[in-house]
Amino acid sequence: MQLRDIGEFGFIDRIARMAADDPAVLVGIGDDAALLDLGGPDHLVVTTDAMLEGRHFRLDWLAPEEVGRRAASGALSDIAAMGATPAAVFCTVGLPPEWPVERADALLGGVIDAVQAVGGTLAGGDVIAADRVLIDIMALGRVPCGQALLRSGARPGQALAVTGALGAPAAAVAVLAELGPDVPAEQTLAPVRRRFAHPEPRVRAGRALAASGLASAAIDVSDGLVQDAGHIAERSGVRAVIEAWRVPVAEGCVEVAERIGANALTWALAGGEDFELLIALDEADLPALLALQAVAEVGLTMVGRVEAGTGSVALDQDGREIDLPRGGWDHFA
Ligand SMILES: [Mg+2]
Repeated sequence: MQLRDIGEFGFIDRIARMAADDPAVLVGIGDDAALLDLGGPDHLVVTTDAMLEGRHFRLDWLAPEEVGRRAASGALSDIAAMGATPAAVFCTVGLPPEWPVERADALLGGVIDAVQAVGGTLAGGDVIAADRVLIDIMALGRVPCGQALLRSGARPGQALAVTGALGAPAAAVAVLAELGPDVPAEQTLAPVRRRFAHPEPRVRAGRALAASGLASAAIDVSDGLVQDAGHIAERSGVRAVIEAWRVPVAEGCVEVAERIGANALTWALAGGEDFELLIALDEADLPALLALQAVAEVGLTMVGRVEAGTGSVALDQDGREIDLPRGGWDHFA
């Protein structure tokens, strides 16, 4: 049997069964980040995220500083999904020895910019020689005891809501693949290109949601909305229904889809790497959350509901299931 047969999530399940329990590890493998109790008023949140050139990014699609920014943002988005405040980030990079120093500086500069933008600091890491560029980010955050947002808190009868708008990174990848990196900087492409190159992990919104006590579950949208809703469903023992007509599609996606003959809604439902937050909440609490400044400034839109059952699905307005091209992102598929 090969890894591709069991997939990324099958492999992670096997690792989780091999790892021993520890009372200091409140939440281990299976959430956006681990949650540790090391004593003190805050719990420690730890996550790690690796990106490999050619697999997760292309250097002809993004400038080195943009690659660094995206890599750091992936880990910081997981910190945000736990409702935590970023503290320190550690970055391991593998770089070809023939790389110009200026380019390497730019890559790490992008990491540092992303970390400083959310109030954290780069505190260490490792540097190795490699044939292809590898970036591995470990992010540490803190959250007051009892406030962490987990995937496991969704209950039947609740609503699902998402911050911001979805689909721009998938639209940017599609247009780059279709038209190539030398596509002129057309007006229609600018919004999705900007969102792809400069993601904004929802750290402030995540902290506000956690402090409010009104979000009962959360995940960041990194694999694709429907698949990430499925991760909440699995950990909560419920079924997640995404009502596709409610999903906010990011600025520029519809124009890009028309340009290349694609479907913008599919990008919003299954594209991934949006780094927005998907939460479960009681629908009656939506106005109270939107009254929080950090939530209001990014927006929070109801996109579905939690039911008894298992799995996740996207429905159209007539209640028909929407066929998605693939079940989100799987590294070994
Ligand atoms: Mg995540």
